[in-house]
Amino acid sequence: MTDEGDIPADHPRHDSLVTRHRIEAGVDAGITSRQGLIAEGRGEAFDYLLGEETIPSADAAERAAAAQLLLADHPVLSVNGNAAALVPDELVDLAEVVGADLEVNLFNRTPERMEAIAEHLRDHGATTVKGLEADERIPGLEHERAKVDAEGIHDADVVLVPLEDGDRAEALAEMGKVEIVIDLNPLSRSPRTAAIPVIDNILRAIPNITAHARALESAAREELQHIVDDFDREWALDQAEARIRAGGE
Ligand code: ATP
Ligand code: MG
Repeated sequence: MTDEGDIPADHPRHDSLVTRHRIEAGVDAGITSRQGLIAEGRGEAFDYLLGEETIPSADAAERAAAAQLLLADHPVLSVNGNAAALVPDELVDLAEVVGADLEVNLFNRTPERMEAIAEHLRDHGATTVKGLEADERIPGLEHERAKVDAEGIHDADVVLVPLEDGDRAEALAEMGKVEIVIDLNPLSRSPRTAAIPVIDNILRAIPNITAHARALESAAREELQHIVDDFDREWALDQAEARIRAGGE
């Protein structure tokens, strides 16, 4: 297997190759599931059609996400195997800037993968990683997929869920959580149930949410609320779909 550093920075498909490499390494390290490989391939196709850039409506969503996370009483960033493999440093940074918890939350939950991801996040600077207690449940989901921490996602008011499946996104919304979903497919049920759908690659989305949060750190609550209220989720979903249908035009 090639090293990430072997991919020339000026290669026209640089970011896509780095992404594939990280996912592949994630699978080898027991962090990412084989399902995660399929999810990655699907995401790449949408990203290609988006032009592999953060479109203006996605930037607006990322700014609203930053404001919403800063306004939250208890924000939690949910981390799955793809997110952990792709953006571990960036997730730790964002959690620090907005004062959020990191919680490992897996569709294909095994004790080994839970521990491998928690360890990986700690290696990348996380001090506390939640999700291992699993002492509460999300109502309406079957047992394994419903497990969360009482002091984590169960107690959260705002949850950021990257690459989440539709059922879980819906169940969290029904619990009254304000959901921020990062997903490259604007037609997927997960972003469609989110209060703030972020149609962008997680590689670009997380650092950009962090940058917006840094810029807004000392803003008044009224201003943050205004940014959240001003964001139009239907518009953002439509903009992304139009861009994809036009093929990155
Ligand atoms: P549902 O319709 O129930 O939401 P789904 O078919 O979308 O189900 P998944 O396989 O969980 O179910 O989808 C994974 C999602 O993650 C896909 O929509 C894909 O576009 C997205 N995705 C994959 N890689 C990335 C990435 N790097 N950044 C953002 N989104 C990604
Ligand atoms: Mg989906």
